[in-house]
Amino acid sequence: MRAIYNDPRAGHKARELLLAVAYAVYLGKTEDGVSPLREARRVLGRNSIGRPRYDDLVAADAPRYAPPRAVEQHAHLSPCEAPRLRPYRPRPGKPYEPDPDAPVPIRPYELPPELAALKEEAMATYTPPRDWRTEDGVCGANSYRCVEEKDPRTGWVIAHWFCKRHADHADRVAEQVREQNEAAPEPVPNTGGLLPCYFKADWEKVYRHYAGKFWEPPRYGLCADDWPAPGETFQAHRRLRMVLGGEPAED
Ligand SMILES: [Zn+2]
Repeated sequence: MRAIYNDPRAGHKARELLLAVAYAVYLGKTEDGVSPLREARRVLGRNSIGRPRYDDLVAADAPRYAPPRAVEQHAHLSPCEAPRLRPYRPRPGKPYEPDPDAPVPIRPYELPPELAALKEEAMATYTPPRDWRTEDGVCGANSYRCVEEKDPRTGWVIAHWFCKRHADHADRVAEQVREQNEAAPEPVPNTGGLLPCYFKADWEKVYRHYAGKFWEPPRYGLCADDWPAPGETFQAHRRLRMVLGGEPAED
């Protein structure tokens, strides 16, 4: 139970499932005739529409690759990342002209001196937020089309969004990543697979039953402990550096 509580991969739902199974396994050791998974299914109860919560929790723990939100979100939420076609020039605002018919205040409003000092201090240190239109040189318009790039090491998807005006730019990028995408490996799973880390069972059969007919066991194994972690396993490739000159560079 300590390991389950300390597992940073387990969200509150996965943790509840793992704890319920741990409890049921413990019961099965002390009492006869208790089937751990059936007992876990019983103690987890039912959800608001009367379905056993266990079923959804196990389905959510099926090991799989979940693409990032940027791939699946609505195109209008994603700014176009192609270079800007025309440089951005802020248009001058209209000069302020007071309304001659507006009522005149009896006494102009003034901040109390201590607040005025604070305001002056705040204004002196204020820096306006970054404006991507002038600084990054990207288009930033509402997007229309997503080009998916697959990481050659992990098979994970990186989304590139483009607007309608940048259709040919999107075509070029799609052509650039085509070969890389075809050669990319099956994506390393990044979610689920916690039950096999803690308990022995025929998990493939269990997941197959609850996760739906499209679920297939990942090539990297069912257990999340066995998956290569991008930070560790894949780092090794990046450490190779080009050596300029005779002496090998030290990393
Ligand atoms: Zn654009």
